[in-house]
Amino acid sequence: MDQSDILRALRAKAEQLDLEDGLAERACLFDLPRAMIYLDGNSLGPPPHGVVDRLTRVAGQEWGVDLITSWNKNRWMELSSRVGAKIAAVVGAESASVRACDSTSINVFKVLSAALPLRPARRVVVSERGNFPTDLYVTQQLLAGLGDGYELRLIDDAATDLDAALDDTVAAVLLTQVDYRTGRKLDMKSVSARIHDAGALAIWDLAHSAGAFSVALDADGADFAVGCGYKFLNGGPGAPAFLYVARRHWNAMPMLAGWMGHAAPFAFTPDYRPAEGVDRFLVGTPSVLALSALETALDAYGDIDMASVQAKSSALGDLFIEAVETLCDGQGVTLASPCDASVRGAQVSFRHAEGYAVMQALIAQGVVGDFRAPDVIRFGFAPLYLQYAMIVDAAKILSDILRTKAWDRPEFKVRAAVT
Ligand SMILES: *Cc1c(COP(=O)(O)O)cnc(C)c1O
Repeated sequence: MDQSDILRALRAKAEQLDLEDGLAERACLFDLPRAMIYLDGNSLGPPPHGVVDRLTRVAGQEWGVDLITSWNKNRWMELSSRVGAKIAAVVGAESASVRACDSTSINVFKVLSAALPLRPARRVVVSERGNFPTDLYVTQQLLAGLGDGYELRLIDDAATDLDAALDDTVAAVLLTQVDYRTGRKLDMKSVSARIHDAGALAIWDLAHSAGAFSVALDADGADFAVGCGYKFLNGGPGAPAFLYVARRHWNAMPMLAGWMGHAAPFAFTPDYRPAEGVDRFLVGTPSVLALSALETALDAYGDIDMASVQAKSSALGDLFIEAVETLCDGQGVTLASPCDASVRGAQVSFRHAEGYAVMQALIAQGVVGDFRAPDVIRFGFAPLYLQYAMIVDAAKILSDILRTKAWDRPEFKVRAAVT
């Protein structure tokens, strides 16, 4: 088959998949720029309808007119738990075990510092060398602060090296379920079970999981979890993150206490008395504007069947791999993600020696993904608003760029601060 036959076959397949797509109508909840194929919803989701209106109302009426009375009148105090309950539905958790608050980095600190005292005789935290750096930085600094023999044990790949790293010194294992570079996805149930068999606690970072596919925190044995509000959950730039504490650990106490986690914040007593349940993981005043945006954004996941979300993100990725491998054959791109969708998150990465310039050329032509050093071009497949036809178009544009070396221009090689 020549290129045009391949393209025709791919387009026909995409058209059929779009016709059969049970999530197709959810795309109406978003207004993406028409000239753009947005494959970066894994880094910053677009605003679902209603978010901008909600922000206008909260800022204009609740803040501007109702002012301080809004804490009661507009129930601002409940935002962390209300938004947490909506996220809980997306990640398979009972609603009372999730709170939306702070950033993912801060939530890593809180849950890890709460987990370690639950295994007081153990001093080791296991994580992956390639974990998202903030998780490692937070962990290193927490363990250094604790002193007392605490150490971080890094492994290359939890899928293959975890068992060898587990022994009776390991207190907790902190893993990001989907590797941010390669998209490799860990099976939460079996990995958590192995961690528990070694007597340790399983802490999951769901930055690239929440909203991308089915997650079952309660059923799959997670002890603690954290995740992002601004990636697949579309909560807006710098949106509040979330944390999860399994019910059996509700008596755990993070090493960061603040008045919002006090049993009676407005008693203003000098001594800390932790709130019951997960509320003790709250610290300061909730970020009302940001939580309001996230709350409305989560309506896009209302009544959704997460199994169909997972099926679509897998199929979008499968189609992209097939399209790139056939259209870009011999053009210097190699798949950096698992081929098998059952062990891949909602993203696909390729390596190319000039990956940065290739991505800049793609963005210039309206195909927006991102680049992760040293050579990874990364494409996210958010299942709520993407169509299969866009996937084939994106692969076609990539193949044209590679074939004509359109990336080989000085302006595409200037590194911006954010890649
Ligand atoms: C995106 C991401 C974060 C981001 O943390 P912030 O505190 O929101 O900056 C953390 N962990 C992982 C695995 C991520 O992918």
